[in-house]
Amino acid sequence: MTSFENPTNENSYFDAVLVGAGIMSSTLALLISEVLPDIKILIIEKLNSPGSESTGAFNNAGTGHAANCELNYTPLDEKGNIKIDKALSINRSFERSMSLWASLYEAGKIDIKKFLKFIPHISFVSGQDNISFLKKRFQKMTSNPEFIDMEFSTSFDEISSWAPLITKDRNPFTKIAATRIVRGTDINFEALTKEYLSLVSFNKNVEIRYKTELVDLKKIEKKWELEISSEGRKTSIKTDYVFLGAGGKTINYLQKSKIPEAKNYGGFPVSGKWLICEKKDLTEKHNSKVYGKADIGSPPMSVPHLDTRWIDNKKLLLYGPFAGFTTKFLKEGSYFDLFSSIKKNNIFSMLEVGFKNNDLINYLISQSLKNHNSRVENLKNIMPSANPSDWYLKNAGQRVQIIKKTENGGSLKFGTEIVNSSDGSLSALLGASPGASTAVSIMVEVLEKSVLFLNDKNNLQKKINDLIYPELSASENYSTFIKDIKKRNNSILGFHP
Ligand SMILES: Cc1cc2nc3c(=O)[nH]c(=O)nc-3n(C[C@H](O)[C@H](O)[C@H](O)COP(=O)(O)OP(=O)(O)OC[C@H]3O[C@@H](n4cnc5c(N)ncnc54)[C@H](O)[C@@H]3O)c2cc1C
Repeated sequence: MTSFENPTNENSYFDAVLVGAGIMSSTLALLISEVLPDIKILIIEKLNSPGSESTGAFNNAGTGHAANCELNYTPLDEKGNIKIDKALSINRSFERSMSLWASLYEAGKIDIKKFLKFIPHISFVSGQDNISFLKKRFQKMTSNPEFIDMEFSTSFDEISSWAPLITKDRNPFTKIAATRIVRGTDINFEALTKEYLSLVSFNKNVEIRYKTELVDLKKIEKKWELEISSEGRKTSIKTDYVFLGAGGKTINYLQKSKIPEAKNYGGFPVSGKWLICEKKDLTEKHNSKVYGKADIGSPPMSVPHLDTRWIDNKKLLLYGPFAGFTTKFLKEGSYFDLFSSIKKNNIFSMLEVGFKNNDLINYLISQSLKNHNSRVENLKNIMPSANPSDWYLKNAGQRVQIIKKTENGGSLKFGTEIVNSSDGSLSALLGASPGASTAVSIMVEVLEKSVLFLNDKNNLQKKINDLIYPELSASENYSTFIKDIKKRNNSILGFHP
């Protein structure tokens, strides 16, 4: 294979190149810089600032996903039993993120006030079937130490005291129910990304180049050669390790890498929109994130929720996301993104997913065609007193769901997946949910499988555990372990139950 261009100077070789400056690459950069400070890292970002795509404060919901309130994390199995294994694993991953933030904050390395606020997480439903579901879910979840503090109520007055906007103008005789976990969070992932990157830039071995885009990549002997473009000027760099953290566009670069593992994948983009309210008399009355049930036929990630958010020191209400149809993989992307990802080896899976999910595509198109009043009508399910003139519309980020070739044909996945080359020289992150909240666990997994860890795995794993918080040892009881971690994180991060 021939080179893009012969790299000639010392700025053209790095031990690791991280593509994209969103929450994923910045978390990875932070972990590498803390445990392997001598490694030469380059982060390239095509925009002129970090965290501006899905990680952007207005581009996601800012929920610290701990599975406290998201009903789609506790689906029913074929027999109608509630499954909580996904909720437990998400909760544990999020606690790991909190543990890292606590450690870094305690060491004076980041400022949690810039990105973290504690806020109750509430699930809210109406109608007898949904109430029975919520009660069973509550009973099952509270038998685990992760969710022991969950409260359940069917009392109109009590739910009013938790979230007055849910009950205002609602008929007090309608059957409603809610669960609440007071120790929920609102996270500004864009601000967190900036905290991580400003910390790693103290390390002279870390370089960040903005307005610099990955164009192509290929493996030449044991090294990756990357063609990059900066303000129209193309150069090439070499590296031992590449992380593709380009958000929705990762799928295209994974395909360009030509690693055999890339063959099974395709992408299904979904756009999003929020209703936003800045009126102080309303924002002051709502202090929680309230998740409802998804509409029938809607994708699981479009569960509507009414969120208190703090963005740029301003308190806001966001409702949504309203999912929509698009062919772009990034907000600052191209309408050709989807078409350029269709290849010989994924076209059948993609077509099959298209046919099998006709209802979903129709749903997304119909959502895209909704007008302001019909969106506010939808909001009224959670907030009956909503007035269209108090709300305006804003675009959210893009999500690219994974299409994967399986034994049973093409399948649409709503989770997150790491694709690693067999030699550990390249990793790529696909998918969107639970996303940013679990970035720490995901990036630890990426690191552990990379060539960077190859020669010293045990020692480096120990360093990571010491950085975050020790892992549960085989002999330990999980109830005691999680209680201790939560106590420690609460005390450092300032949550007073
Ligand atoms: C509507 C919505 C709501 C969400 N809500 C939540 C939530 O409440 N909680 C939660 O935890 N997660 C949520 N998520 C998911 C979360 O936002 C994402 O999982 C996370 O931000 C992904 O981070 P990333 O770093 O992988 O990607 P991104 O933030 O998209 O970053 C990718 C970066 O790569 C850059 N890039 C792309 N191509 C190139 C190239 N060729 N060269 C150089 N740079 C490139 C982009 O400019 C971008 O900066 C939500 C997502 C959406 C869309």
